[in-house]
Amino acid sequence: MKVVTNAQELPSACAFVPTMGALHAGHGSLFSIAKNYTDDVVASIYVNPLQFENKEDLEKYPRTPDRDIELAQEFGVTHLWFPTYEEIYPEGFARLTAGPISNLYEGASRPGHFDGVVTVVRRLFDLVKPKVAIFGEKDFQQLALIREIAEEVEIIAAPIIREADGLAMSSRNVRLDKEGRIASQVISRALRESHSENELREILASEPLLTVDYADYIDEQTFLPPTASTLFTRAIVAGWINGVRLLDNMAVKSEVK
Ligand code: AMP
Repeated sequence: MKVVTNAQELPSACAFVPTMGALHAGHGSLFSIAKNYTDDVVASIYVNPLQFENKEDLEKYPRTPDRDIELAQEFGVTHLWFPTYEEIYPEGFARLTAGPISNLYEGASRPGHFDGVVTVVRRLFDLVKPKVAIFGEKDFQQLALIREIAEEVEIIAAPIIREADGLAMSSRNVRLDKEGRIASQVISRALRESHSENELREILASEPLLTVDYADYIDEQTFLPPTASTLFTRAIVAGWINGVRLLDNMAVKSEVK
């Protein structure tokens, strides 16, 4: 595996996995999927300041570069890229505005977040020129907004990887204390066991350590409430435990009548 700090050292037409580092098995699954498309698997590690609307969250974001190099190698990454701020954001770079879906849910709670996400992903794509790029369904809304700006890059969605207790893997999970970690199980349990939006919210409300931001059923296409013409419904949840923001979602199986 090559570790590089300049995009000019990357192979073109690669399979690309952008990350913010503090790698875990969720990222690992994206690298494995990337391998199915081409031998050249490029991963980037860049904590993008533009997508953090909260300075403290940016400062507290876990950074483990040495361990990331080891894990990326184990997961089959061929080129690991640590871009610099100057490379991503040269003077006069174009700031993009994410589509209308960006004002809902994660975007409503984190103003400007998705503008930062689509801006960095556009810059990363322009520098890497990948054939395909892999993104996790863990960040379901992000995935939808990236599809809108991808144009020349094929976007592949990867399923959510979970801890043994059901918690969706996330770099932020290390900030949960033991009690918080146990409480966090309620999110995946609520998604698995509920059969309606009300039931989802009831199960979540049973955990006093969890502050729910939203727990909704949405149409996967529009991110609006499902209607008679909805093809796929998804249950999406976000909340805080010990000040740590947790995100999860799951496809809602249509009732067999
Ligand atoms: P991050 O480093 O958190 O920005 O994530 C980088 C990529 O990994 C994004 O496409 C995420 O959606 C994806 N990802 C993060 N956690 C998981 C997970 N538990 N399962 C699948 N994909 C994930």
